[in-house]
Amino acid sequence: MRLILLGPPGAGKGTQAAYLVEKYNLKQLSTGDMLRAAVASGSELGQKAGGLMERGELVPDDLVIALISERLSYADVAHGFILDGFPRTVSQAQALEKLLAEKKQPLDMVLALAVDQERLMERITKRAQESQGNVRADDNPETLKKRVAVYLEQTAPLLDFYQEVGILSVIDGMAPISEVSTQISSLLDELKA
Ligand code: AMP
Repeated sequence: MRLILLGPPGAGKGTQAAYLVEKYNLKQLSTGDMLRAAVASGSELGQKAGGLMERGELVPDDLVIALISERLSYADVAHGFILDGFPRTVSQAQALEKLLAEKKQPLDMVLALAVDQERLMERITKRAQESQGNVRADDNPETLKKRVAVYLEQTAPLLDFYQEVGILSVIDGMAPISEVSTQISSLLDELKA
């Protein structure tokens, strides 16, 4: 299965991706993780991306498209993958469509986690407070607000994009974690059936 998980920061993408990896033996491909590794290694890509990430802005399309294009050429994605954090713009989505069409491996489903804006802000503020001083430099309230704004402006249009492609499924991301997982499973089981 080839899937995309779509949703704003704090919607629970990471949690659900981990569940799907376990249950369906898929590879999780997170451009955020790849970029954080590049920053940590001090590579040229990392140097270009680091400041943008800290400010909650997007890394340029050509850089992330090159990253994902290389990653999709590895043999370990043959059984299927779940994209977490990519695509984030319509031009990334178009590049992905082209890439997967060339490989004759189209996407099966885009799972969008729908969230209530106000409750989302509460959730991510809490997450930012809880992660004070550790792990991610972009998990502070200010950057998170910026990331949500960037999501609404640049990533939310992907909902219409994939609706038109005909592979969009919207899930209530405000439901308890286990219920979200159950909803996703039943959609995927239908897909496999
Ligand atoms: P994430 O871990 O997915 O929340 O990503 C963390 C940060 O990495 C984002 O705020 C962006 O700065 C950058 N990033 C990750 N994925 C992408 C992408 N597909 N396009 C542009 N920037 C990205």
